[in-house]
Parts: sequence; structure tokens; C-alpha cells
Amino acid sequence: MAGSRQDNYIICEDLFKIYKVADLEVVALRGLDLRVKKGEMMAIVGASGSGKTTLLNILGGLDSPTAGNVVVGKSNLLKITAADLVRYRREDVGFVWQQAGRNLVPYLTAAQNVELPLILLGWSQKDRKEQAEEMLEAVGLSHRKQHLPDRLSGGEQQRVAIAVALANNPPLLLADEPTGELDSHSAADVLDVFQSLNHAYGITVVIVTHDISVTHKVQRVVTIRDGRTSLESLRSNGPATTLHDPQHTYDEFTVLDGAGRLQIPREYMDKLKLKGRVKVTLEKDHLSIWPEKGSPGYIEK
Ligand code: ADP
Ligand code: MG
Repeated sequence: MAGSRQDNYIICEDLFKIYKVADLEVVALRGLDLRVKKGEMMAIVGASGSGKTTLLNILGGLDSPTAGNVVVGKSNLLKITAADLVRYRREDVGFVWQQAGRNLVPYLTAAQNVELPLILLGWSQKDRKEQAEEMLEAVGLSHRKQHLPDRLSGGEQQRVAIAVALANNPPLLLADEPTGELDSHSAADVLDVFQSLNHAYGITVVIVTHDISVTHKVQRVVTIRDGRTSLESLRSNGPATTLHDPQHTYDEFTVLDGAGRLQIPREYMDKLKLKGRVKVTLEKDHLSIWPEKGSPGYIEK
């Protein structure tokens, strides 16, 4: 594991996030493990409430974890100082939200939206203009640079949002349901932009999504369940170029963490009525898991 640390850009180990609401504690992340390689483009999927946005907010430095370990690039986000966190948010990560409205300032043109974060960073006017041109070209919207957001389609707005997020060349791009409000055609355009930026600039891209078409465009899909990474699907022969490409198949793995914990797929638990105590036995080259003798799922031999 020590050797692989170097090429991982994101490392989450046993990550916990507990929200306190009045007297209640909501455990949004419970011992989550995740590694993302530098330059990788991957997707995180999971049911509503499984902790996807919480994870993304932590990775973006917008929320702080309760316990565990999270390192992004050179920054340890549990130990980071307030000043370094501000710098991290400004320089090291770009964010794209589901609602295009949250990404763009409505009374600024596409180009002005891209320039805005650069003004805050003190870029000169000339550099800002050049950068806005380059970024809008990279997302295929040079011809729309003078348009206000409400003159752009939803897909175009999201592409401008990507240009804004990447304006100051952050090494990491985080996107929370970026195609959630788009039709399938616009969604495909937006995903193509993620892909081409990932290829062209080597940006690490993490996309949280419900959208099955997203998962066809990435090499790896991690499933979160109840605040933990439970499954990993790896594409066996590279990202697909079209949706539902039959040439591309996934290898699916259950994730085993450093403490030996894994999440048994829900359907297996239901089928064998596994609950509470189970028997785990070591075979020559695998493990077997049995319902406890006398429990509802146990079959007398
Ligand atoms: P997802 O994005 O996968 O739908 P979230 O990360 O938004 O999931 O939420 C995970 C869990 O944490 C949910 O039970 C949610 O209600 C809870 N949660 C999220 N944000 C807050 C918050 N600010 N305060 C309290 N509970 C929260
Ligand atoms: Mg969410």
C-alpha cells in the first residue's frame, strides 16, 4: 500500500462525517475508503442520502470531516490550517454543481463569468481575457462568449461552468450531478467536455452522479452505500465512446477496507436473510459466509 500512495492524488481512509442537528447525530460517512489516481476520471454513484455530496464537499474543502484521514495532493484536509484551506479551495480544486444557476453569475456574460475568479486571484486584464478565450474554446463555446447565461441552453451553461471551474488551472475537478438537469444529448456533450479536459490537461476528475450514461464514459465507478464505498466497477477495456457500448464490460469488485470490513451486496443479504451473526470460514482459496445456525436464512443439511 505504501508504494501506491505516491500515484494516488486523493486518499480517504476510514473517513467519518457526523452532522449534529439539534440533539440528533446523522452519520453521513462511516469509515469511507477511497483512492483516486492523479489524472484519473472516475464516477461515484449511490442512492440518494448515501453520502456522495458530503464526500465531494469534504474533498473540495467546503466541509470538514469528523474523523479519519483525507489527503488531496499535498494537503491533509483534517490537519490543514484555515489560511491553507482558503488557498486550497481557490487554487487546488474546481467545482461544478448540478444547478447551472449556482455555477454562473446571471448578469455576467460567459467570458466575464470565466474571468471572475481570475479577478479575485489578481490576474491582469490581458491574461484574464486570454484565459477566458482559451477555456471557452476548450469547452467548445468560443462562439457564445458574449452571451448571458439565460441565452444559453442548460448544457451550454454547464460547459461554461466547467470553464469557470477550471479557469485557474486547478489539478482537481469535482462535479456533483453535473448532468442531473440535462437531456441526454446535452449530458453527452458535457461528458465529452469532461473527457477531453481530462485527456488534454491531465486533470483529475471526480463526478458524482445518478446518470448511468456517465458511468459509461469513465474507467472506474465506485458505489457508495450508507456512507461507505461498497463496490468498485472497473472497465476492462477502456472508456466507451458511445452509450451502452456492448464492447465494454465491467469487472465488479466488493471493496475490502484496511480493517477487513466489506459490504455484502444487499441482494445477497436479502436472499440468505443474513443479519447479525454470520459464520465466516476460510477455504483453500476463498472465504465462505453462512447464516448462523437456527437463523431465518439457515438451511439444515
Ligand atoms: P447524497 O448526496 O448521496 O444524496 P448527502 O451527502 O447529501 O447524500 O447526505 C448524506 C446524509 O447526510 C443524509 O442522511 C443527509 O440527510 C445527511 N446530511 C447531509 N447534509 C447534512 C447537513 N448539513 N446537516 C445534517 N444532515 C445532513
Ligand atoms: Mg447529493
